[in-house]
Amino acid sequence: MNKRVGLFGGTFDPVHRAHVALAHAALRGLQLDEVRWVPTGHSWQKHHRAASAEHRAAMVRLAMGDEPRFVLSRIEIDRAGPSYTLDTVRALHAAEPGHEWVLIIGQDQYARLHTWRDWPVLLSLVTLAVANRPGTDLAPSPEVLAHPHRAVPLPMLDISATDIRARLAAGQDISQLVPPEVARYIETHGLYQALATREPTPPGS
Ligand code: ATP
Repeated sequence: MNKRVGLFGGTFDPVHRAHVALAHAALRGLQLDEVRWVPTGHSWQKHHRAASAEHRAAMVRLAMGDEPRFVLSRIEIDRAGPSYTLDTVRALHAAEPGHEWVLIIGQDQYARLHTWRDWPVLLSLVTLAVANRPGTDLAPSPEVLAHPHRAVPLPMLDISATDIRARLAAGQDISQLVPPEVARYIETHGLYQALATREPTPPGS
């Protein structure tokens, strides 16, 4: 059966409530059959990454909850080298022909889309869907704006992984910003604490 599948990529370092809200809003608002969560392996744009791919994937799995239409994809984690979305989309097209792939991004990524590798080719292979995000003053480039996109009906949610990492490093509470299971995981594994205090424990320990 041909499906309409949302592709939701990110560093998810850590996954937070806005990610979960965005995935649900896309599922409902865009009538998707599935949302495929795709944690990056090596992000070519973000070098701050603080938790391992295995920890980030484990947290995404917890955040997905019991929604059967959420699926975790290891395609970028298991691929060597930098994570380019175009490589991922090409691989998915080849492995699962016939689906409509809906690339879900927030406004900040939309404003940077013209910097993504071969973005016009990428946009020829997917339906683009963009969600509101506060704090993004940058406008997308005119060339990107010329391409059609769908809007994901998401209220403004002022949450970022950067802020969560900073709060954790400062010993502050993050319980309102991530799902409870993710908060517990972060605590159990000692993730994102000030580097001097404690080494993170491996996943599954
Ligand atoms: P960081 O602060 O480390 O840059 P982040 O909070 O932006 O991380 P990512 O994992 O980079 O999280 O985001 C994955 C996707 O989710 C991106 O397309 C991003 O635009 C979107 N996204 C993240 N947070 C929000 C938010 N608060 N509102 C809307 N979209 C969001």
